[in-house]
Amino acid sequence: MALKLSAEVLALKTKHPFIIARGGSSDHRVVWVRLADGDGVEGWGEADPSSYYGETADTVLEALRRLEPHLPDDPFDLETAEAHFAQVVPKNGAARSALSAALHDLVGKRVGQPLYRLWGLDPRQAPVSSFTIGLDTPEAMRRKVQEAAQYPILKIKLGTDRDEEILRTIRDATDKPIRVDANAGWTVERAVQMLPVLKEYGVEFLEQPLPPQDLDGIAKVRRQGVLPVVVDESCLVAADIPRVAGAADGINIKLAKCGSLREALRMIATARAHGMLVMVGCMIETSLGITAAAHFTPLVDAADLDGAALTANDPFVGACIDGGRIQLPAEPGLGVRRR
Ligand code: MG
Repeated sequence: MALKLSAEVLALKTKHPFIIARGGSSDHRVVWVRLADGDGVEGWGEADPSSYYGETADTVLEALRRLEPHLPDDPFDLETAEAHFAQVVPKNGAARSALSAALHDLVGKRVGQPLYRLWGLDPRQAPVSSFTIGLDTPEAMRRKVQEAAQYPILKIKLGTDRDEEILRTIRDATDKPIRVDANAGWTVERAVQMLPVLKEYGVEFLEQPLPPQDLDGIAKVRRQGVLPVVVDESCLVAADIPRVAGAADGINIKLAKCGSLREALRMIATARAHGMLVMVGCMIETSLGITAAAHFTPLVDAADLDGAALTANDPFVGACIDGGRIQLPAEPGLGVRRR
């Protein structure tokens, strides 16, 4: 019996304004997707569109309308379904990943097993997630560091004209490991100049120092040998990895970029074949979106799955990062329910 698709826009609020190097956005509208089969079993997924990659909640709804006639007759036919979706709407990663998550959720519920078990993964291998301290005044950032007391690793967004002040403010407030994401906000010269400063402040690794296309520049930053360099905006799908492999030490996977859970697994395998580190990140999203990514975290080195923890009105309960470590729900499928 044909799958029935329904989609609902959810407007998320963040606890604090979320600002990065290319500015802030208060539009955190995501799309909750449900696929119902003929037996009344429902698979859930979430689309977390990023305007940087050309998607909004409205383009997600339009993409879902275009994808609806291409839903598989058999939800277990996951590879063919995802390949088909990518042909119909190649650029709409967030929209496609919602359908991918919903199909995987449905399959897990049909066989009565959590997704990580279907993939043969040990949930105890899930890493600790970092927690992001958004750009703000020094006083507000000190307060945010205190609010983040339960999280053992902090992620700092740089790429501003007051990066040293921000680093000093955070380091004065805590001894925790820090990871830095410049969100493509630096030049090569600026990045090379910042490396010893980052090292001095105990930064673990540096994410996306330069614009996505500047792989020669990123390679130059990496060759300084000061800190591992991870690419995010430079690497969307598995096919990007051979190209970035010589320039960076690792990749950051996001479902909104790669468009499906199975593509995320291919990215992990491809990155490993190139000897690269793998991290998984997120957008501002609910626990439904976070949980879809959390299920493959036993395979990755580092996680930044704080999207739901940064929101003030998460409608779902699923994977969580309480105390830092990612805890996967043991219920079938994604294991997510309404709060
Ligand atoms: Mg990033």
